[in-house]
Amino acid sequence: MPWPTLQDEEVLRLTKAETDRQNTALQLIASENFASPAVMTATGSVFTNKYSEGYPGRRYYGGNQVVDQVEDLARQRVCELFGAEHANVQPHSGANANMAVYQALLEPGDTVLGLSLDHGGHLTHGSPVNASGLMYNFVGYGVTESDERIDLDQVLALANEHRPKLVVTGATAYPRTIDPEPFRKAADSVGALLMFDAAHIAGLIAGGVHPNPVGIADVVTFTTHKTMRGPRGGCILTTSDLAAAIDKAIFPGQQGGPQEHAIAAKAIGFAESATDEFKAYAAQVVANASALASAMGEEGFRLVSGGTDNHLLLIDLRPFDAELTGKEAQIVLDEAGITLNRNSIPNDPRSPFVTSGLRIGTPAVTTQGMTEPEMVEIARLTAATLRNRTDPSAVANIREEVRQLCAPFAPYPQS
Ligand SMILES: *Cc1c(COP(=O)(O)O)cnc(C)c1O
Repeated sequence: MPWPTLQDEEVLRLTKAETDRQNTALQLIASENFASPAVMTATGSVFTNKYSEGYPGRRYYGGNQVVDQVEDLARQRVCELFGAEHANVQPHSGANANMAVYQALLEPGDTVLGLSLDHGGHLTHGSPVNASGLMYNFVGYGVTESDERIDLDQVLALANEHRPKLVVTGATAYPRTIDPEPFRKAADSVGALLMFDAAHIAGLIAGGVHPNPVGIADVVTFTTHKTMRGPRGGCILTTSDLAAAIDKAIFPGQQGGPQEHAIAAKAIGFAESATDEFKAYAAQVVANASALASAMGEEGFRLVSGGTDNHLLLIDLRPFDAELTGKEAQIVLDEAGITLNRNSIPNDPRSPFVTSGLRIGTPAVTTQGMTEPEMVEIARLTAATLRNRTDPSAVANIREEVRQLCAPFAPYPQS
């Protein structure tokens, strides 16, 4: 049988339109990045065709001689990168990785301590509409009112009061360094296990600019597509003694056949993350976030916690304009080609759907080669858009300025 002769013009057109959007607008969503051409090629490779339920050397189907090598390569590379004893590279996403850890370490109904969602925690850290919150008894800690950093005294006090079986740390909207040590102490004080969810900052850890939780936490989960800059997917690192339980929770516990094309791409991403170029990249991500934070401060925005140590900033819009909501800001900025997301700020008076804040990240713009001068431009264009948000022609002019700013930095110029 020949290949289908169908030329799908519709999807082709949409792919071109999305490439154009990524090439000509600012991608400031803190969880996004641009994967390398090598990573993209691997995700489109023949590994997509293979069923390989099980693990290297223990598969249910035949024909996995090559797949075993690619999965072993991914496991070895990521263990070496983070100094881990064991890796599971099969999670389809960060959410799957987290759910598998809970399934491996907990019984339904068990108590877990995690960062509250409205203070920067993730959906999978016990949201009542997420399986994590439906199946387990999550108790939330937060940030202090005074410095808006994680309240470590509260973590200790809540651990003592609720005796969790697992302590979870890691965040989706927290601009400061998370030191794993105090969480280890809190977990040890009540005999709990510790999981560090490094979904956002895995690339900063691999690049040596944030502390490595491996060897301190019992389990580290992360996504491979955020600061890590690999393909879309998840990964779990663990000690040898928890390896069997974790592997069993991913397959057959949570997933069926692994996506070996994504695993091949993860192997490439892990190799890319081990290079000196990537160390320089990670340092520039943080330098750019810091430059953007200063410039946004000068434009009249308040930075939650006063600044940033990592790849993202959380903006409190109220001092800039008391009437402006996160929702309205996100929509008009998108029209100007400045794509970011609205975000609750700690103790936000507005609902999570409306919010008083914005989250802005530098991983993608740093990948495309932007540095401090461009960050100052981004702050200027952001503030100008929001000041002129009721003037469509002003917003259209800013869209043109964004296009010009992005032109020399297009991530996929050949496409
Ligand atoms: C993004 C994220 C996840 C989930 O990753 P997905 O791949 O979107 O499922 C989990 N935890 C944290 C802290 C995250 O930021």
